[in-house]
This record gives sequence, structure tokens and C-alpha cells, in this order.
Amino acid sequence: MKKFRMKKSLGQHFLTDKNIAKKIVNLAHLQENENVWEIGPGRGILTNELVDQKCILTCFEIDSDLIPLLKKRFNSKVELINVDILKINWQDYLPKEKVKIVANLPYQITSPFLYKVTKKAHNFSKVVLMIQKEVAKRIAADIGSKDYGKLTLKIQFYFNVDYGFTVGPQVFKPQPKVNSAVIILRPREDKPILEDEELFWHIVKVGFRNRRKMLRRNLRMLIPKPQVEKLKSLCNIALTRRAETLSESEFIELYDGIRKLKRDNDLD
Ligand code: SAM
Repeated sequence: MKKFRMKKSLGQHFLTDKNIAKKIVNLAHLQENENVWEIGPGRGILTNELVDQKCILTCFEIDSDLIPLLKKRFNSKVELINVDILKINWQDYLPKEKVKIVANLPYQITSPFLYKVTKKAHNFSKVVLMIQKEVAKRIAADIGSKDYGKLTLKIQFYFNVDYGFTVGPQVFKPQPKVNSAVIILRPREDKPILEDEELFWHIVKVGFRNRRKMLRRNLRMLIPKPQVEKLKSLCNIALTRRAETLSESEFIELYDGIRKLKRDNDLD
């Protein structure tokens, strides 16, 4: 087997502390024969803990140089798929039953990966991810905090979020420049159903475009100034507020108001 060379471009910061790997796997509360996806098994430190749980494990690893090593270590205990997790159609791999995801994610795929997870949220019963701490804090943020924003709303729209624990750089090889953290996502049973989700996310985006500005100012990017005035009478949200003070249900109220406004005025 040829000597393995780490690839920074693939976010290869391998975990070296078995206890952390165990702690991550414990957060998934796995049952025997449950379907689990691991993204980026690397050299298999998490994989090894997952195999111990006797789950039905599928690992997606982009780096073909790691495949022989993983095959040798785990043999038939794991289904190894040598692909880019962002480029495949997840539907082709999803079983009928719900799946749990457990992964120490490569930093550079965090956003597109999370986006894909939200699109298939109902297929997963739990998602346990190690990601950059700064991103984990934004995902788990409370209203009004400096970390609260579009990403918070987006992930919390689909999932109940728990911040697990922080992990320092010293337990990786090579060490990353930043701290990491483990987050736990559980699909919401009370996920809001909106007729025009695209519009909702557009309002959220516009609302946060300039965090320091009031809603009435930011919303001018979406609706003409006189219509913003009219909006005041169509929803109970004071437009002098800033987006970071609005809860999900208040954003929905704003969205309902804007939909009414658009209907009444035939706006695009
Ligand atoms: N799980 C191992 C651990 O904890 O030590 C490795 C984690 S390392 C942070 C990320 C792993 O994801 C690497 O093995 C890398 O090759 C793999 N990877 C990077 N981009 C990927 C992608 N788009 N699809 C699948 N695997 C990817």
C-alpha cells in the first residue's frame, strides 16, 4: 500500500483522540442495525467507534487514496463509497428507514453540506456533526445575540439544535487554526409550512443585509418605500426593529404581511 499523504485541500484534519470520537458517537444514541452515514471517514477513528455500535454503516469518502486503508481496516463491516458527498444524488443512497449522520466534517464543505441536509431533513432522525466552533455558535444562537442570523434561522427552521461541546485544535493532526464544536440536529416535528418558502428566505436575507439598520430600511431592497409604510398596517411587527431581534414566528408574520401587500398591490 503506498504511503498516504494528507491533503489540506480536502480539509484533512484527522482526529487523534479516541475519547472525543467516543463522545461524538455517544451523542448519536445508536441502536443496533440503525442506518448511519459517516461523511469523510478519513483514517477511521470515528468509523471504528461506529462499527462497535453494530449499526448499518455507509461511509462516503472523496479521497481514493484512503479507500484501500479503510477497506483493510474495516473489511465488510462498512459500505465504503468513494464519492464527493456534495456531488451525488442523496436519494440514490437513502434507505426506506431514517438515517443518522455522524461526521467530523471537512470545514470547507460545511455550508453546502448543511444546505443539502435541510433539503432532506425528513430522511434523517439525527445529525451529529463536528464543525468549526464559530459556525456551530451561529447555528445554535439565541435571538438577539451577535451570532443570530440567516444561518440560525435556516437550520432552526428544519431542526431542533443542541450545542454539544467544544473541541480544541490539539486533538487533530494536522492542527486546524480554529476551535471546533459538535452540534446535534433533530428534525422538527413542528416545522412551519409556508406556501412561498423562497419569498420567506428572501425576506430573511434582505432583513439581515445590513444588521445595524432597521427593518424598514433593509426592506426597501424588496419593496418600494411607500409600500413599506403600508406594510406597517398589515403586520404587527414594528419596522423600526432590527432583524436580529425577530424570532422565526415574527419573521413569518412579516412574510404574511408582505404577501398581503404583494397581493393587494400586484407587486412582483
Ligand atoms: N473522520 C475522520 C476523522 O475524524 O479523523 C476524518 C475527518 S477530516 C476533517 C474530513 C474527511 O472528509 C477527510 O477524510 C476528507 O478526505 C473527506 N472529505 C473531504 N471532502 C469530502 C467530500 N466532498 N465528500 C466526502 N468526503 C470528503
